Amino acid sequence: MFSRRNIGSAALAILGFLPLAIAAGTGSLGPFDSAAAWLGGLGRAAGILGLSFFLLAAIISVRLPGVDAHFGGLTRLWNIHHALGAASFLLLMGHPLLLAFAAAGASPRAAAAVLFPGPGEWSVWAGWAALAVMTAFLAPTFSFFGAPDYQRWKSLHALSGAALVLGVAHALPLGRSLPGRWGAAIWAGGGALALLSFAYRMAIARFVGRKSYRVCRVDAIGRGVVELSLKPDGELLAYRPGQFVYLTPLDDGLARGRGEEHPYTVSSSPREPVLRIAIKDLGDATHALQTAAVGSRALVEGPYGGIFPPGEKEARELWIAGGIGLTPFLGRVRGLSADRPADIHLIYCVQDETRAHFLQELEGAAAKVPGFKLTMHFFAREGPLNAAFLRSRCPDLRGRDVYVCGPIPLIDGARRELRGAGVPASRIHSEDLAWL
Ligand SMILES: Cc1cc2nc3c(=O)[nH]c(=O)nc-3n(C[C@H](O)[C@H](O)[C@H](O)COP(=O)(O)OP(=O)(O)OC[C@H]3O[C@@H](n4cnc5c(N)ncnc54)[C@H](O)[C@@H]3O)c2cc1C
Repeated sequence: MFSRRNIGSAALAILGFLPLAIAAGTGSLGPFDSAAAWLGGLGRAAGILGLSFFLLAAIISVRLPGVDAHFGGLTRLWNIHHALGAASFLLLMGHPLLLAFAAAGASPRAAAAVLFPGPGEWSVWAGWAALAVMTAFLAPTFSFFGAPDYQRWKSLHALSGAALVLGVAHALPLGRSLPGRWGAAIWAGGGALALLSFAYRMAIARFVGRKSYRVCRVDAIGRGVVELSLKPDGELLAYRPGQFVYLTPLDDGLARGRGEEHPYTVSSSPREPVLRIAIKDLGDATHALQTAAVGSRALVEGPYGGIFPPGEKEARELWIAGGIGLTPFLGRVRGLSADRPADIHLIYCVQDETRAHFLQELEGAAAKVPGFKLTMHFFAREGPLNAAFLRSRCPDLRGRDVYVCGPIPLIDGARRELRGAGVPASRIHSEDLAWL
């Protein structure tokens, strides 16, 4: 069946290939009557497809809350954004080379003229400039020079606005591949939408898309983990358990990360009057937040994603949490009540007892809520989670919907072991807490 999570991807696929289909349908790619004509046609096709993908990658980076649900969550939408960006870069690199190879049959001078025309051909030079800017901001994404620092990577990504303008400036006046009216409508319309999305994300969202909160409590949960409770200055953000938000702390006392937005899963239940976020010290910003000041302001944007599908249903569930990947499940646990039986089994995987954060609260819920069961898995003693452990602790796991959240190795391992234990892939849902 065609689910809601696939609607966005299907629409993107149609929009991505539409300009190419129009070019092919109007005969602007051909005629394909010689090797040189084939190369020229392929070169034009690469240019059209590359630019469409680039515009779509920019448009979906707008990150409006709620839109990500049509793509299966924000994490999946970012993966699509990355794939579109990478594909567009490769296609746009191939575009001038294929056109030059097509002309090389006539003479090397003709090929050189395609690549490096006279100074009057400014639209071709705009294309080269677009490629140069793309190379600059995509190099860290492709880790050409080692793993990128996240904030540097993000600042460099702001260059994508210049690449968009230059790319459209290249395609609009050339108009050779898409016939006149189509070219103007698609490149000008798509370019305007992409630039608007870019401007919204870079400049406008910080004024209209974020809600103001104040830190009203900071609870030290254990080594390197705190839980912040935040009270809204206005209306409380509406969210489902397991969704995440972008938090921008504005605490002047923070050593790092003031004014930086980072994604965190909401650990409170939507019924609570405060928003809670549990933060593990994993880097500069999360380290500084361990000593966030009570009373300081923070901006909250979202909610996004969500490991659990929308709508309450009476399901039999198995949750597998790794470390701080407990947070989406905490939000659900805190919404359970003794008078509403559940059928949920939580397997909480941690290194050892010292890292079993929130354990008392979980044990309390397991003792109080009928049908909520807790099993601990200690990596230091038991090694990686495996199918035998899963089967012995949760013998009916095949009949359950399984949700896994944690670091990527845990998710990959759990998926493999669950599949080995006979759980169909369609019943396994996961969310990882790293995107780069
Ligand atoms: C959907 C999602 C939910 C998350 N929920 C939680 C949670 O509930 N509790 C928790 O402690 N952590 C959570 N994280 C992880 C948290 O966002 C990162 O640990 C934090 O952003 C690291 O920032 P840093 O400056 O401390 O570390 P850095 O050393 O700067 O970054 C470490 C790694 O974190 C990632 N990262 C850094 N900044 C960002 C950013 N702005 N956006 C996306 N990724 C970034 C990058 O992969 C980077 O390599 C979540 C991440 C995601 C993607």
